[in-house]
Amino acid sequence: MLIDLSKLLTHEGKQQQVEILSSGDTFSCELGEFSYGENEPVMLTIKHKENQILSIRAEGQVAVWIPCSRCLEPVLVSCPVDYDEEIDMKLSEEERIEALDESSFIQNKELDTDKLLHNEILINWPMRVLCKEDCKGICSRCGANLNQGSCDCDTADLDPRMAVISDIFKNFKEV
Ligand SMILES: [Zn+2]
Ligand SMILES: [Zn+2]
Repeated sequence: MLIDLSKLLTHEGKQQQVEILSSGDTFSCELGEFSYGENEPVMLTIKHKENQILSIRAEGQVAVWIPCSRCLEPVLVSCPVDYDEEIDMKLSEEERIEALDESSFIQNKELDTDKLLHNEILINWPMRVLCKEDCKGICSRCGANLNQGSCDCDTADLDPRMAVISDIFKNFKEV
């Protein structure tokens, strides 16, 4: 959704509040495509403080299905959205991008809520997702989900500490 900021920028002290929802059914990024869970809208508040300075605040959470790092079963993870910045609209677009150090979600006095949400989800993306603390993972030989019972391979009786180590290696490979 694009929000036109030009009206706000002509009135100091003016504030606009909108409920925003992630568009589409999936969140896609370099890591892959992930389905959204049932999402509550994120509350976006834009205020023209003074002299072309906007205060932008987005609060809420976005639920995304992310595969467990060990067994790959999807887990519903809540990514918090907690954005609170002031943006000086007197700066040029390039200067703004530099100051915020992230891809700009404001272009030509329009705020792109999808980009804002996308950035926020990425920033709060969990380092590691587990379906449960003691997830046994999958057998490295036959691929069976060991939470659903052991398989016939020798490695089936994997020490949980080993599962953590193989987890770390998996994460290294992905980087
Ligand atoms: Zn798991
Ligand atoms: Zn096996």
